[in-house]
Amino acid sequence: KEFTSKIVRRKFIDFFKEGYEHQVVPSSPVRPRGDPSLLFVNAGMNQFKPILLGCPDPRSDMASYRRVVNSQKCVRAGGKHNDLEDVGKDVYHHTFFEMLGNWSFGDYFKVEACAMAWRLLTQEYGIPVDRLYVSYFSGDTANGLPADEETRQVWLSMGVRPDHVLPFGMKDNFWEMGETGPCGPCTEIHYDHVGNRNAASLVNADSPDVVEIWNLVFMQYNREVNGSLRPLPQCSVDTGMGLERLVTVLQGKRSNYDTDLFTPLLSAIHQCSKAPAYQGRTGEADVDQVDMAYRVVADHIRTLSVCIADGVYPGMTGAELVLRRILRRAMRFSTEVLQAPEGTLASLVPTVAHILGDAYPELHTESERIMDLINQNEVQFLSSLKQGRRVIDRTLSNMDKNSAVFPASVAWSLYRNLGFPLDLIDLMLEEKGKVVDKKEMAVLEDEYEKLRLQSEEDDGDRVDQLDLHSLAELQSRGVPHTDDSQKYSYSL
Ligand code: ATP
Ligand code: MG
Ligand code: MG
Ligand code: MG
Repeated sequence: KEFTSKIVRRKFIDFFKEGYEHQVVPSSPVRPRGDPSLLFVNAGMNQFKPILLGCPDPRSDMASYRRVVNSQKCVRAGGKHNDLEDVGKDVYHHTFFEMLGNWSFGDYFKVEACAMAWRLLTQEYGIPVDRLYVSYFSGDTANGLPADEETRQVWLSMGVRPDHVLPFGMKDNFWEMGETGPCGPCTEIHYDHVGNRNAASLVNADSPDVVEIWNLVFMQYNREVNGSLRPLPQCSVDTGMGLERLVTVLQGKRSNYDTDLFTPLLSAIHQCSKAPAYQGRTGEADVDQVDMAYRVVADHIRTLSVCIADGVYPGMTGAELVLRRILRRAMRFSTEVLQAPEGTLASLVPTVAHILGDAYPELHTESERIMDLINQNEVQFLSSLKQGRRVIDRTLSNMDKNSAVFPASVAWSLYRNLGFPLDLIDLMLEEKGKVVDKKEMAVLEDEYEKLRLQSEEDDGDRVDQLDLHSLAELQSRGVPHTDDSQKYSYSL
């Protein structure tokens, strides 16, 4: 039987709904509601945080939830869980992904949660037991946390081989939602794609051969603002499995981009571009970065579509600013590496809606608006690119011909005020045999970071508000500038 992504998603929901009386709860929008500790929804549990903390609104449905199942739209491109840098480089981290999850709020705990997960993976989805590895929390003295021996025993009692049950510390096996919020020890299930004898040593080692698929968190604490751990009023189970990674396993692929969640997008991109078809190369083998560009564009257009449908528009602060960077990154890879024409990104939106619209119908209803917004932003970006090129050329012509060092204040201002990607500035200068003054750049970045932290202390929600006026602020605060940079400070 063929495991299409639709069937895989459906089967997860039905398994918990029909088999174990879980209530199906729809995905929340990716814009967090009333939670300033988050830029985007980064896990299925976000919308259930009030229940975990023991204070759900008594008038809401939430107050009655005991067992819940859902498939949640997640974005990890900022804050504590930020995978933006990995996207395109590897084949299993996305900025947008779907998290399948089941919850027990003060109902079942470790034994039942592990047994359900194991049954679903090995019997319903038919994954061979030999390919699965599980991890448990090894404890942490600094936080006063004991090892989770109980979970180790649960797995062993279910017949999991001792050499497939592995201990890990805080980083991998103590899950935290953000700098503050619910947290607890977790146990994770990893899949060995290869059948290696040494697969155990590849667990949690950033290897594409052994990939984490499911995290079962035993919510027991809240991380307080002062960093301490406060025990929660009740013990809960919070699980999350990446749909894309699970589908990869079940479709017998090695890369999320080779599943039906991505292949239609990759061919649509190919149709628009002048590049050769996607070949799935990574790292050194991907010499011209064409395959990376395919992955970045396919990933980013999903994120853009989902975010815009949920009312997060590219802009100047917070999540909006992150989305703007994602859009510009997608544009650069599509125009410069894949040589796709203007309008390509928007033209991919119907394909995203076709792939995901059954699960998230807003992608269908909002698709016109998504396309319009992407096109508008594209026009803006191209015009600021032109403007930026002019500023760079003017600066170069005013510079001492023998100097290879480009004033950092100009680069900084292009970056902050025009949204010009820094690596693009580097590239454009490289063509002219120049480099940005790295020392001065570091000073500017440092100062900016200090200002940002200050503004965070002043008002927790206003991270990134400084972006638009940062240069003026820096100057008014007397940040050291070389004489050179004064000469080149344009109003952009
Ligand atoms: P990794 O270690 O691979 O970065 P994680 O430990 O950060 O994953 P969790 O916070 O435990 O991930 O999230 C639960 C599940 O969500 C993971 O087991 C994985 O299947 C999936 N997942 C997490 N991050 C991503 C991502 N960026 N793209 C796709 N799936 C993801
Ligand atoms: Mg991660
Ligand atoms: Mg992990
Ligand atoms: Mg994890």
